[in-house]
Amino acid sequence: MIKKDAIIIGSGQAAKPLSEKLSEAGWKTVMIEKSEAELGGACLNVGCTPTKTLIASAKVMHAINTSEIHGISVSDFKIDFDTTQKRKDKIVADSKEGLLQKNCRRRKLGIGLWNSFFQRGKNSEC
Ligand SMILES: Cc1cc2nc3c(=O)[nH]c(=O)nc-3n(C[C@H](O)[C@H](O)[C@H](O)COP(=O)(O)OP(=O)(O)OC[C@H]3O[C@@H](n4cnc5c(N)ncnc54)[C@H](O)[C@@H]3O)c2cc1C
Repeated sequence: MIKKDAIIIGSGQAAKPLSEKLSEAGWKTVMIEKSEAELGGACLNVGCTPTKTLIASAKVMHAINTSEIHGISVSDFKIDFDTTQKRKDKIVADSKEGLLQKNCRRRKLGIGLWNSFFQRGKNSEC
């Protein structure tokens, strides 16, 4: 049987500070995420991270488009949207990996990352 002081349902933005605070207070806590695909919640998967990554690429495009006002002329440029998307996907994937590794470390303080079926999650071997 698994004995814990608290269960946090979901691994989104709300879960991270809560798990840290509980961990610091010495609580043995388990974080449950219903799907590995949604690890990190909306912010990481469809919200803050992907949108800001794409906005960063758009800003580069805008800077090139308006470079002439700075006396810089750039000819023959194009956007490869596939590369833009792959960059965004990698940043999201790296952040997820970071989240798993962080939870591995926290697990020593009693926090683990498990899925909703109570099977061991990806970091269970840590
Ligand atoms: C397009 C977009 C852009 C955004 N940009 C920003 C921004 O720049 N800055 C900002 O501060 N906020 C931004 N947000 C808002 C931000 O994403 C949310 O405020 C934040 O994700 C809320 O976090 P949460 O933990 O409350 O919920 P969620 O992120 O929704 O996380 C809930 C988690 O719980 C899991 N879950 C649900 N039910 C169960 C269950 N029964 N069992 C197990 N797991 C479960 C879900 O899979 C999910 O991982 C943006 C949102 C969107 C949509």
